[in-house]
Amino acid sequence: MSLKLELPIYMDNHATTPMDPRVLDAMLPYFTKKFGNPASRNHAFGWEAEKAVESAREQIARAINADPKEIIFTSGATESDNLAIEGAIGMYGATKGRHIITLKTEHKAVLDTCKHLTSAGAEGEQGDKAGQTAKGALAKGVLAEVTFLDVEKNGLVDLKKLEAAMRPDTVLVAIMAANNEIGVVQDIAAIGKLCHERGVLFFTDAAQAVGKVAIDVKAMNIDIMSISGHKVYGPKGVGALYVRRKSPRVRLSPLIHGGGHERGMRSGTLPTPLIVGLGAAVELAVRELPEESRRLRALRDRLWNGLRAKLDHIYLNGDYENRLPGNLNVSFAYVEGEALMMAIKDIAVSSGSACTSASLEPSYVLKALGIGEDLAHTSIRYGIGRFNTEAEIDFTIDTTVKAVQRLREMSPLYEMAKEGIDLKSVQWSGH
Ligand SMILES: *Cc1c(COP(=O)(O)O)cnc(C)c1O
Repeated sequence: MSLKLELPIYMDNHATTPMDPRVLDAMLPYFTKKFGNPASRNHAFGWEAEKAVESAREQIARAINADPKEIIFTSGATESDNLAIEGAIGMYGATKGRHIITLKTEHKAVLDTCKHLTSAGAEGEQGDKAGQTAKGALAKGVLAEVTFLDVEKNGLVDLKKLEAAMRPDTVLVAIMAANNEIGVVQDIAAIGKLCHERGVLFFTDAAQAVGKVAIDVKAMNIDIMSISGHKVYGPKGVGALYVRRKSPRVRLSPLIHGGGHERGMRSGTLPTPLIVGLGAAVELAVRELPEESRRLRALRDRLWNGLRAKLDHIYLNGDYENRLPGNLNVSFAYVEGEALMMAIKDIAVSSGSACTSASLEPSYVLKALGIGEDLAHTSIRYGIGRFNTEAEIDFTIDTTVKAVQRLREMSPLYEMAKEGIDLKSVQWSGH
């Protein structure tokens, strides 16, 4: 390869994606010339903006086999997750039940919303907000009871365990379509079928899945689904929530009150340029999905095979088959993750550790797979995306291999492992 690579290389496409230039082109006129408020009913400026918003709604609906009326615009998947869970408990908690089932490996937007509803502190806020106190939904000061289900070693949920966790008062199952760290894709259709058989609402956070794997809300029995703009090569600060209107008809208590926009579920002036971008991004991603997923899977396999050919003692985290095409999450035993990240800083990736204020915590997702703290700290998440090239993958293999080999040269434990000394009895610390 004589072509010079531009450094650093962006390979963190689960954190965010660059916007596709085609999406930007679609958005630009709506910042300046076509600036109207889509809620202005009395003049052409408003009609023009409303037409653009409704066209984006149709694009998204078509991409997931929904009806345009079932799409609610939000500020992103975090808000969509909050609205789905808190809105369902607000609407059905007093009548149907207050039990939620979710996974330990969910995104924080889901986990923290669930935790918020299970803390007594939620009472005052919710009572003030939605006038729910009058309905008597807030007895005991706790809004919901949540089961945080374990996943299997490959990151997938066992359907029998999910079924066993269901109770007569279970109102909502919240299981993400694709995991943002380990990329595993759950059997959404089977989960949806089970939920509908049991009369439980099925909510899925599909921020990482839409545009990456095929989603059909009807065929998969999805009732509520979160979408994010900036995970599908669209703009940041916009997302959507799919809310089923038929069999069953789902209603959600709003979190934001005001002009009654979005069928009363989400008030606030619609950000037309962002919504146009979201529509264009989702349509593009779904249209190009078969081709793009084939290309990304080939790049991902090239990376994994390249690493495996040159390095021993490396482990793939999460199921290989049921996985996002662009995701590779690998533990490199006997190196320290932060040191490895530093050594490959020409490549933007994420580590299996999260910086909390005082210390480095191993990822709770890797922990839920049963991966030890030491090994979790050696993990790197590669997120390959639309604009990555084969030359970048080869550079990544080469750089990672050299860095791991160099760091391991300094590790006496790695020397022991190489010589076949049983390390099970040795407490290994990556630090
Ligand atoms: C990024 C992400 C979110 C949050 O989306 P925002 O649009 O940034 O609020 C939620 N869930 C998952 C799975 C994500 O990957």
